[in-house]
Amino acid sequence: MALLQISEPGQSTAPHQHRLAVGIDLGTTNSLVASVRSGVAEVLPSSEGELILPSVVRYLADGSRQVGREARDNAAADPHNSISSVKRFMGRSLAEVLATESNSPYRFVEGEGSVPRIQTASAKVTPVEVSAEILSLLRKQAEATLGGDLVGAVITVPAYFDDAQRQATKDAARLADLHVLRLLNEPTAAAIAYGLDEAAEGVVAIFDLGGGTFDISILRLNRGVFEVLATAGDTALGGDDIDHLLAEWMKQQAGIEVKDNHGLNRHILDQARAAKELLSECDEVLVEIEDSEYEWQGLLSREAFNELIEPLIKKTLSPCRRALRDADVSRDEIAAVVMVGGSTRVPLVRDNVSDFFKREVLTHIDPDRVVAIGAALQADVLAGNKADGEMLLLDVNPLSLGIETMGGLVEKIIARNTTIPTARGQEFTTYQDGQTAMALHVVQGERELVSDCRSLARFELRGFPPMVAGAARIKVTLQVDADGLLNVTATELTSGVQASIEVKPSYGLQDQEIEQMLRDSMDYAQADKDARSLREQQVEAQRVIEALDAALASDGDDFLQADELSQIQTARAAVLAVAEADDHLAIKSAIKTLETCSEAYVARRMNASVRKAMAGHNLNEYER
Ligand code: ADP
Ligand code: MG
Repeated sequence: MALLQISEPGQSTAPHQHRLAVGIDLGTTNSLVASVRSGVAEVLPSSEGELILPSVVRYLADGSRQVGREARDNAAADPHNSISSVKRFMGRSLAEVLATESNSPYRFVEGEGSVPRIQTASAKVTPVEVSAEILSLLRKQAEATLGGDLVGAVITVPAYFDDAQRQATKDAARLADLHVLRLLNEPTAAAIAYGLDEAAEGVVAIFDLGGGTFDISILRLNRGVFEVLATAGDTALGGDDIDHLLAEWMKQQAGIEVKDNHGLNRHILDQARAAKELLSECDEVLVEIEDSEYEWQGLLSREAFNELIEPLIKKTLSPCRRALRDADVSRDEIAAVVMVGGSTRVPLVRDNVSDFFKREVLTHIDPDRVVAIGAALQADVLAGNKADGEMLLLDVNPLSLGIETMGGLVEKIIARNTTIPTARGQEFTTYQDGQTAMALHVVQGERELVSDCRSLARFELRGFPPMVAGAARIKVTLQVDADGLLNVTATELTSGVQASIEVKPSYGLQDQEIEQMLRDSMDYAQADKDARSLREQQVEAQRVIEALDAALASDGDDFLQADELSQIQTARAAVLAVAEADDHLAIKSAIKTLETCSEAYVARRMNASVRKAMAGHNLNEYER
């Protein structure tokens, strides 16, 4: 018999088939697609030879649409129908969008669920649909350049994107007929682009200031593996804000007061952006406003510009400090600082970041392209084109995830900054005798009370056998996948009854909210702890009394022995006497006494109950 032939790992016997995969940087301002060709990652040009696609989609009255530069150039003339920075709306509710976009030219209308729609000349479109237009064009552009169908794409998202925003990005990809190999955090992609995974061990910082978002991430390299130690940032800080600041300055200088002339505002913003970008290279620029009504010209020096934007640039430093603190590393431990995003071309930004980290920052890979290039490298690996196996990437969970327990308290199951993917489980039990269902409430946040955290999802576990309170064992497992999406499973362990839910919140969490939640958890830490202890003990007191009363009423006569009842009654009265006061230690000790006196009785009835629940069933039935 012939022996089966086995090739060496990584060496296939068939001629090597290159599978076409791309990396996409789906940016707030600009989007790019890149791919590995002949071993080199490069950004793929459009048919017009452009590498950067402005993330703007214009909907025309005849139902056609423009995507990219054409849309951006027409935006000033047609502001209502030219949608830019749509990434800011991804995964957000209408209410959230309206709260932050009061100056927006777009006509937001209510859509299905709480998803906002934008009324354009031809259709009411969702942010997911607008993003899909951009992704679809990039896909076509890549397929034309690469000459074939794509097996998939790695799409990058800001490290701070929450579940809803990641899910919305995946939905947009599906609409654009793109298979998502993986959502990848932008800073991690930048680290890959710089080949930092091949370097020795060390800690690096990725500073990403784009058009609309700011992210700082601290990564640790460990034998070629990235671990994101911490992330921080501000989803409402970027080059757009510099443009707005400069536009305001221009209007002030020109003595123009425009409020609702969106066309003129857009024109001034375009001029501001152009001037800002020039100032990264020149010491002085000429700025102009030219409109049917207004005409103005002025000179702007880099010095004056720097003075204007300095407070804005400084705003990036406190997230840097926080990220370092969360990662528990000092500035001297940072081995490299990578600059990402078009706004890091501004010399003042580079200077401030260099000063802060006390070192030269890395800028030699084009900061506009670095994320797309890293994504392309990762896509190449995930598509199976590399012999040396899969690159392992670890990201972190930005806020703690937990479950509501009695008394409106949060039991944290996955801590903030835990590396993902991860799965953690914890056992819970029932509160009342005979309980056959349990309501589960999944929350996100750092505080002790549910009311101070964010509600993510509610679901129920039903149909487990009735038992006395405390006898059922419900294991709740929280699993966060590599894309940062959460799945929750609850299983009653004696019966195997199970329920699960995939958490796709219909609205997202604002970055400011995340920051606020983190700040609050620090400010209130002690007060929270006291409140928690008291609430815990009060709930416990109530539970113990209710359980005891119910038990005594149902089977006290059967299971109680001679003088047990009077001892129990005395201890019960003692618990009631302290339950409403605010001394949690007194409640705790009274409960303890009550539990000690009733221990023997409880054990007798627990045994009887389990025997009864299992009667008529065999063990195998429960051991699924
Ligand atoms: P995003 O990731 O948000 O899509 P990018 O990384 O493409 O953003 O950065 C876009 C921002 O970079 C814009 O605000 C743009 O004006 C700014 N930018 C691009 N080139 C320069 C430059 N030479 N000087 C200053 N800012 C620049
Ligand atoms: Mg970017």
